[in-house]
Amino acid sequence: MSTCLQVGGITVTALNDGVSHLPPLFYPGLDFTAHPDLLSDDGTHHIPAGSFLIRGEGFTVLVDAGTGPVAMPFPADLAAAAGLDPAPRSIAVGGALPDELAAAGTVPEDVTTVFLTHLHADHVGWVAPGGTPFFPNADVVYGAPDWDALIAPAPADDPARIVMEAAAAAGALRPVDSPVVEIAPGVSAHHTPGHTPGHYMVRIADGGQEAYLLGDAVHHPLQLNDTGISFLSDADAVHALKTREEILARLAGRDVAIGMDHFPGLRFQRIGVTAEGRTWRDA
Ligand SMILES: [Zn+2]
Repeated sequence: MSTCLQVGGITVTALNDGVSHLPPLFYPGLDFTAHPDLLSDDGTHHIPAGSFLIRGEGFTVLVDAGTGPVAMPFPADLAAAAGLDPAPRSIAVGGALPDELAAAGTVPEDVTTVFLTHLHADHVGWVAPGGTPFFPNADVVYGAPDWDALIAPAPADDPARIVMEAAAAAGALRPVDSPVVEIAPGVSAHHTPGHTPGHYMVRIADGGQEAYLLGDAVHHPLQLNDTGISFLSDADAVHALKTREEILARLAGRDVAIGMDHFPGLRFQRIGVTAEGRTWRDA
């Protein structure tokens, strides 16, 4: 069990910006009555807003940038639709990332690249909180299709749009659209569309060791053996399932550590294979 991982000469550290409170309807196909332990007292499923710091010779890459220093109010219509009375106060609370970076021995100025697995609000918050870039020396790299799909059509006051437009104004954005993109020596991004059209996962390989950061390609641990569970914000649930199954099949049974942005405790995992199916094991 670890939130810090060594991949050859590269160090990967999981950081948590905050927590989201998601009603069961966010997980179509997941039978919460069979898993009552997944729900907190407020009737929602609590998930972290993870980021991963990747440090190697000459580079510091931050994969995903949390929700940012905000508490997003729980929408009244969502509470009504989910039958939550009283409604939780917020659907997402962020703000811990700077302290997490400091605890890892890093300051924002050290970050050379912010790589965004996709452009949902709980992954871009610290790019430019309040419209001011937080990582002054970093390129902000993301999958180009997500701009047209998620940012351009969003209302002007959408949190992700505010942040991304501020980064654009600062000249920091580096959209990518190749199947595989080199981010830093030993760190590459791989196009894995479905959750969003521009979603990328990250591969880290050094010294004969290998790790993957899957972003939101796998959103819930129970998706490991249950192809019927999707996620409400999957842009294309069928494509997301196909991508997820390809990734899980490729990594199952291998000595490869895996990090997911929304898994409990942000612990690195490996996928074991047993007669009963695949199993998560702490890496
Ligand atoms: Zn997410």
